[in-house]
Amino acid sequence: MKIADTILDLIGNTPLVKLHKVTEGISATVLVKLEYLNPGGSSKDRIATRIIDAAERDGHLLPGGTIVEPTSGNTGVGLALVAQQRGYKCVFVLPDKVGEDKRNVLTAYGAEIVVTPTSVAPDDPESYYSVSDRLAREIPGAFKPNQYSNPNGPLSHYESTGPEIWRDTDGTVTHFVAGVGTGGTITGTGRYLREVSNDAVRIIGADPEGSVYSGGSGRPYLVEGVGEDFWPGAYDPAVPHEIIAVSDADSFAMTRRLALEEGILVGGSSGMAVVAALRAAKDLPADAVVVVLLPDGGRGYLGKIFNDGWMRSYGFSNAPAGHTVADLLR
Ligand code: PMP
Repeated sequence: MKIADTILDLIGNTPLVKLHKVTEGISATVLVKLEYLNPGGSSKDRIATRIIDAAERDGHLLPGGTIVEPTSGNTGVGLALVAQQRGYKCVFVLPDKVGEDKRNVLTAYGAEIVVTPTSVAPDDPESYYSVSDRLAREIPGAFKPNQYSNPNGPLSHYESTGPEIWRDTDGTVTHFVAGVGTGGTITGTGRYLREVSNDAVRIIGADPEGSVYSGGSGRPYLVEGVGEDFWPGAYDPAVPHEIIAVSDADSFAMTRRLALEEGILVGGSSGMAVVAALRAAKDLPADAVVVVLLPDGGRGYLGKIFNDGWMRSYGFSNAPAGHTVADLLR
């Protein structure tokens, strides 16, 4: 029998799969690590577990306590999932631009949400930063994970993602590529792989054009979950050897190709990471093994990247598409 005791035991140990079609013309092996197969649907399940474990150990989170965090995305789902299993309450503060589907995922796990106006400055008392700080102060037994500065984020990847990649490639990995959001994934995984390989593994960050990690000012881009307009404490700029900037258009086109040509339905930051990986792999020899981390699945982006009308409205008119019935009748 192979039975997990709880859903939390299924976090991590995500599989690697080889890319075959989008790698045409590349000699190196390119493997992707499918983080959407975590129970909450993303790599953020890993950090949620480690952050809550540490808060319990350090006495910041006591039985019956409440987790308060400004997040609308994958981190919220991870925290809500772990909190549900451990008996904590969750309050997530979200700007009003966050869509209904994302809100409903959080409330499905039993979390409370507080919606704040998007159109106010960060220091406004109604902003989502201010409201979450106030709730964390005023709710008795509240704990604020602070994913951007909590060292347990990168540590979770140092302790799980990095060792999994080393183990599953039998130590043959030569390059690791991941998008940079809080920086936790690249910092923790990259640090482990550099240490275990005596600095032989090359660590490559992927960043949306315009974000600070690749030298931008924080100019807006549409890929979600990656890029920043400030330098978070979870990111150690000494870990990556190189940062590759990728445009929204290239990220979204590759995201569509991964579904159409590889059967891998993932989000836009995954497409971005694959574009960066293919650029890095272009001139590598056949014995190179490039591992690319794909943070989440594509279901959360059906109305955007996978929607022709949405793509056209931003001028991404050349996005790869499947067959039309007219093509098939010809
Ligand atoms: N992609 C997506 C969809 C994410 O939600 C995140 C996390 N913000 C990342 C990539 C980047 O991961 P990290 O925060 O560890 O840099």
